[in-house]
Amino acid sequence: MNSSQLADVAPRERLIKGEKNWWFIGPRGIARLQDEHLDAEGAVLPRVERSLRDQGLFEVPAYDSYALTVLTSTDCNLGCGYCFQNTEQDPSGGNRPPRIAHARLTPETTTSLLEFTDARMAEAGLDKLTILLFGGEPMLNPKGCRDLLSRAADHGLVSASMVSNGTLLTPLLAKELADLGLSSVQITFDGDREVHDHIRIKRSGGGTFDTIIANMAKVSAVTSIRWSLRVNVSHHNHTGLDKLVEQLGEAMDTSRCNIYFARVGDVGVGYENELLHTGLLADSFLRWQRRALELGFTVARPRAQAPCQTCSFREGRFGAVVNADGVLASCWETAGKPGLEVGTTATGYLPSAETEGRWQSCEDFYRFSDEDRGLASFQNTVDAALLDHLSAVGRL
Ligand code: SF4
Repeated sequence: MNSSQLADVAPRERLIKGEKNWWFIGPRGIARLQDEHLDAEGAVLPRVERSLRDQGLFEVPAYDSYALTVLTSTDCNLGCGYCFQNTEQDPSGGNRPPRIAHARLTPETTTSLLEFTDARMAEAGLDKLTILLFGGEPMLNPKGCRDLLSRAADHGLVSASMVSNGTLLTPLLAKELADLGLSSVQITFDGDREVHDHIRIKRSGGGTFDTIIANMAKVSAVTSIRWSLRVNVSHHNHTGLDKLVEQLGEAMDTSRCNIYFARVGDVGVGYENELLHTGLLADSFLRWQRRALELGFTVARPRAQAPCQTCSFREGRFGAVVNADGVLASCWETAGKPGLEVGTTATGYLPSAETEGRWQSCEDFYRFSDEDRGLASFQNTVDAALLDHLSAVGRL
């Protein structure tokens, strides 16, 4: 595969204003620019752009592996009110919101999805495979996870990651999965201990903060799994996030964790977030990121606007999402949703006339109450401040 294959959904470079200079963020790297490098309209001068091109900053990296996401179980033991797999809020006001239909990955479906993946990889000209174990909660089907990873070894598997709520991840299970290629796990936090325990709550009742932290510590002791910590930000929890960063810093080996903060939106299930993308919120993001860096966490550098390998391309071109029953989806968010199926692993993708309107990408879903332009400007403010900070502390 070469980068020209990405031309239709290529990453877009960004130019954002920092405190003392401009930051150019290209698909391949970041450069510092001054006012004299821009014209009166704020565009990069042609000679400067040529120089950035010569440095390779505009080059679009080609995908070197096929990205397969597999839901191993659509069930979940938690009842988060904002979950995009809820079909509505719990009518009784409790923590058991109705979810997408039950499905569980079986050995037969694994056979079918690996055959399907072989064909997609051949078409994409890729011989390496990465797998994302997804749910529901993937650890509700540990056998399915083990079976998939062990059999994928013969289909080019080079690495695997998992999105898990962390409550069921035992050291034994993590060790088995790590031996089969699992190298990183994404875990979400929803506020400091007290607030998290009200939001990320078990369907059977009870908080999860201490269990997650204890499981991560035990798993870290027996594997080299790295952690990606997602911190949801909403009007419910933002005042406690300084405390959360301290709690995580105390409990974790921060050198094995990256952390990022994301404003959680409503996917249409009635979970509204009243927190707007204001300057005050941008200040909070920067404060959390700076403290996380001081504590030894990794905070990812801002990136160019990149397509999603899995859902920005149709018909499984560079990646695919497979529900636990073998039904194909356009992205994580549509998996298991009636009327949004785009095929099955056994029969392939449906004809395009039947799937028009079903090719939705993850970013299509989240509704925020302020405008897109406000969101972009918020992101630019946060990213410019982070780059200013990384530069000031000599980490850029
Ligand atoms: S843990 Fe994840 S899958 Fe489970 S309810 Fe919460 S958001 Fe949904």
